[in-house]
Amino acid sequence: MTHLNKAQYLTGQFCPRALYLDVRQPPEDVDAAMQLRFDEGRQVGERARAGFPGGILVTEVVHAEAVKTTRKFMADPGVPAIFEGAFEHGGLRVRADILVRRGEGWNLIEVKSAASAREKHLEDVALTRCVITSSGWPVVSCALRLIDRGFRLGMPIEAFFVDHDVTQETVLDPGETEGRVRALLDALEQSSPPRVPTGLHCRNCGHYDKCLPDRHILSLPNLREKKFEELCALKVERIDQIPDRFSLTAVQRRMRDALRTGMPQADPGLADALNQVAYPLFFLDFESMQTAWPLHRDTAPYEQIPTQYSIHVVPTPGSPAAHREFLHEDPTDPRQTLAEKLLEDLGDQGSVVVYSVFEKRILSGLAVWFPDLAPALENLIERLYDLCAVIRNHFYHPDFGGSFSIKQSLPAVVPDLGYDDLPISDGMTALAAYREMIAPGTSAGRKQEIARDLRAYCERDSLAMVRLYEALCRMVG
Ligand code: SF4
Repeated sequence: MTHLNKAQYLTGQFCPRALYLDVRQPPEDVDAAMQLRFDEGRQVGERARAGFPGGILVTEVVHAEAVKTTRKFMADPGVPAIFEGAFEHGGLRVRADILVRRGEGWNLIEVKSAASAREKHLEDVALTRCVITSSGWPVVSCALRLIDRGFRLGMPIEAFFVDHDVTQETVLDPGETEGRVRALLDALEQSSPPRVPTGLHCRNCGHYDKCLPDRHILSLPNLREKKFEELCALKVERIDQIPDRFSLTAVQRRMRDALRTGMPQADPGLADALNQVAYPLFFLDFESMQTAWPLHRDTAPYEQIPTQYSIHVVPTPGSPAAHREFLHEDPTDPRQTLAEKLLEDLGDQGSVVVYSVFEKRILSGLAVWFPDLAPALENLIERLYDLCAVIRNHFYHPDFGGSFSIKQSLPAVVPDLGYDDLPISDGMTALAAYREMIAPGTSAGRKQEIARDLRAYCERDSLAMVRLYEALCRMVG
């Protein structure tokens, strides 16, 4: 390998081992979540160019050719702005989102489909600037173009973006950067991945399972840096090795004991917590859609718009569950129809069992959008019962793997029910499928197929809660 691109360099800076694993063992497929992020980023990038009439896009995909075209445009004073300009220096390749001509120099604007600036965004701008200036082109100012959450449908496109001047914060030493690139390229030539210290940062890394042994202390929920360091000082690597005297939270202690004994651990408060419900029980699950560019009036960029729900109703203890559902199948605004049908389906008494705070957020959002429905929606919020919080606070199964998500807890507690038999088996795939279903070019047959799969997926989520709740009740007798 003779060069790195910007994303690879940023990964290598975060962890050279992660870069090595990315390059040597790239994922076989781009999953639905990744594809959605790519598509969203591309669309935001395209909108960001609208404010620069006369700007020219560098369309070449092969980097060396793109560099030549960029040079040609930069040398032409008639070109006011360049999109996706390509540069290479010292083994590092970058593409600049927007370059605007300013006299003898250039304004660099990097576009991010995010609402707030993060450290990695600044590093991204700094690297791009460093490679452009090292290639001999002066950069006179740098900005991060982010999404303004105050934007609403109908406003001019300029209101969608907000620029942050980051000229001062994005200066890099070119010699130092070149040295780092060389070191990373050397590491990539080795026959095995570099050994690096593990730490709390590993929890967000896609290679976690490859680098860390099963039951590693980093899978302890809510592990803070100080505790992690104390455990490292004691040379404790696995959760089941944590000594009895070591101070842990109740959740962490249950996890350690479950892994040591191989048995589920329930505290005495579980039975009481499971009893804090009033029948009929309504097991409710929402699905929602989020887009950078809002699709409906009064909604902000990336606001959660509910599009679907599934409810299993259990009228009395032990009785069979009845099913109710809603799916908005076209691109029109789903919110009011969904809210009215939901209120009808949930009646005015009985606990509404959910799994996380997500449903509460959706109900609160609906109450703000529809003040006439707010009292009834607030009444629903009062009736919410979070089964995930009950499990987290009172129960741990050795197969939870440090997570309380329903995808993890269901197969551990109810082994005969899972998601593997469904064409859609996770939230991101459901989101991508929903967007395909409402897209204008999707055929009627495909729309029907997606609608069926989405209904099956959401139904499984609410059924999962019923079966989890029943299994826990049986467990505590
Ligand atoms: S899990 Fe940790 S050590 Fe392994 S690649 Fe990721 S960040 Fe690096």
